[in-house]
Amino acid sequence: KSLLTIKDLHASVEEKQIIKGLSLDVKPGEVHAIMGPNGAGKSTLGYVLSGRDGYHVESGSVALDGDDLLAMETEERARAGLFLAFQYPVEIPGVSNLEFLKAAVDAQRQARGEDPVTSADFLKEAKAACKQVNLPVAFLKRGVNEGFSGGEKKRNELMQMLLLKPKLCILDETDSGLDIDALQVVAEGVNSQRSDDRSFIVVTHYQRLLDYIKPDFVHVLSGGKIVKSGDASLALELEAQGYAWLQNEPAEDE
Ligand code: ADP
Ligand code: MG
Ligand code: MG
Repeated sequence: KSLLTIKDLHASVEEKQIIKGLSLDVKPGEVHAIMGPNGAGKSTLGYVLSGRDGYHVESGSVALDGDDLLAMETEERARAGLFLAFQYPVEIPGVSNLEFLKAAVDAQRQARGEDPVTSADFLKEAKAACKQVNLPVAFLKRGVNEGFSGGEKKRNELMQMLLLKPKLCILDETDSGLDIDALQVVAEGVNSQRSDDRSFIVVTHYQRLLDYIKPDFVHVLSGGKIVKSGDASLALELEAQGYAWLQNEPAEDE
């Protein structure tokens, strides 16, 4: 059984066709890496899946755990177990990280018909998550992302992931400025959360992240669709050869 099934997806932003016939199947527990040239549509795919405003699906289907993802509102998608690591990079001054995280966790619990977590329990859990991603506990009291450095925002996203325990995590590693230390934190966070019932889509421009996160599958997204899929060795091949050689692949028909 699949966790995520994308079939022949076509999507646009600003009336510009970006996703052009993309299909992808992700089973529970799998880690899929998506690589590809700049402007291929990698980030757009994440936004389309998250239901971001301004991104329009023309045709195709997306099922999450058997449910029609595209029919859900953005918040419903999150409650259904979808997590986008770049979903909350915004600064929310005046709202503490702890309040923000608790609200997100409680919304999910409510969707499952559960009571809100008690403040004491949540604080304990949040402190443990801070420790795991190597953020000082003081970050829980700070405004959401307020004055956080790039690395701290990454750690904070990971902390959100640890607390929300999503079924499908999409990480978009657009930040090429991540130092090795922050990269390892991301990888450790992902690796510690890998399980039979949690899947990951890791979007990365660089092979180096995949030295730490071993993907089950690697896909090349080019021109709005997946033009090549393989195992982890494909990432090494891409690192060595770039993407130009894929222009002649039969799947790329533009
Ligand atoms: P990638 O993440 O693979 O580098 P993106 O998904 O960010 O690529 O972008 C894919 C294409 O869509 C690019 O040509 C980009 O310029 C275009 N695009 C993305 N967002 C917008 C937007 N809001 N308006 C117009 N074009 C956009
Ligand atoms: Mg880009
Ligand atoms: Mg991108």
